[in-house]
Amino acid sequence: MLKINNLHCKVEAQDGAEKFILNGISLEVPAGEVHAIMGPNGSGKSTLSYAVTGRDGYEVTEGSINFNGEEIGDMAPEERAARGLYLSFQYPVEIPGVPTLIFLKEALNAQRVARGEAEVSAPDFMKLARTKAKQLSISMDMLKRPVNVGFSGGEKKRLEILQALILEPKFLILDETDSGLDIDALKVVADGVNTLRAPDRGMLVITHYQRLLDYIKPDVVHILAAGRIVKSGGPELAHELEAEGYDKYIGEAA
Ligand code: ADP
Ligand code: MG
Ligand code: MG
Repeated sequence: MLKINNLHCKVEAQDGAEKFILNGISLEVPAGEVHAIMGPNGSGKSTLSYAVTGRDGYEVTEGSINFNGEEIGDMAPEERAARGLYLSFQYPVEIPGVPTLIFLKEALNAQRVARGEAEVSAPDFMKLARTKAKQLSISMDMLKRPVNVGFSGGEKKRLEILQALILEPKFLILDETDSGLDIDALKVVADGVNTLRAPDRGMLVITHYQRLLDYIKPDVVHILAAGRIVKSGGPELAHELEAEGYDKYIGEAA
């Protein structure tokens, strides 16, 4: 479903210098599978998610990103989103003045319009939002507040999952959706991810820690260090990392 081949990516730092962050990443996530990306801070995990979703400033200099048989490496972010790619950010943005429900409805309609589908009606959207919010124990009161403004860490993560439940993406990338969560919020995220698991949907779960993977059983774990995948294996790889740390992989990558 997602096929990344020899991906190189650079950014231009604020001082104008070029910084090469991804140094030849190859990765294949078939439909129905959940792959975890683990790695030390600064190894390029977020950059990988930005390169795949097409964030401005993250330039692919070599390699390819194939999604459902289509090359997407040169597409605008919204074209990739219209094809069903969804990225949940490590640091969700606050949008003062925009009620969360309006934001979610606009996001859904933008996607539908980009696909040539009709917009969802207000009553239909409210029905959908109520059903999905209930599933995540999110109150409608919270959804009337501006996007993420004054939300707790756990509430922000719940909203990321709610957005995914409403948009029904074909492929999800979750970038450290577990960071800063207490155990209850962690379980909400994990339940949400497990709910979204489907034979026709793929997922890439980026995490620094193994504990989220106790609740989401990944099919494959990849270790990223210094912009390269240095090892791939089964779920046991996450436990090995928890015990031994990243040190030996950092050395290997260097
Ligand atoms: P991770 O998510 O694994 O912690 P990142 O992908 O965020 O790592 O960052 C990888 C490296 O690239 C880091 O050294 C980071 O400082 C650098 N980097 C990422 N984005 C930029 C940017 N826009 N400008 C300069 N350096 C960047
Ligand atoms: Mg980081
Ligand atoms: Mg990151």
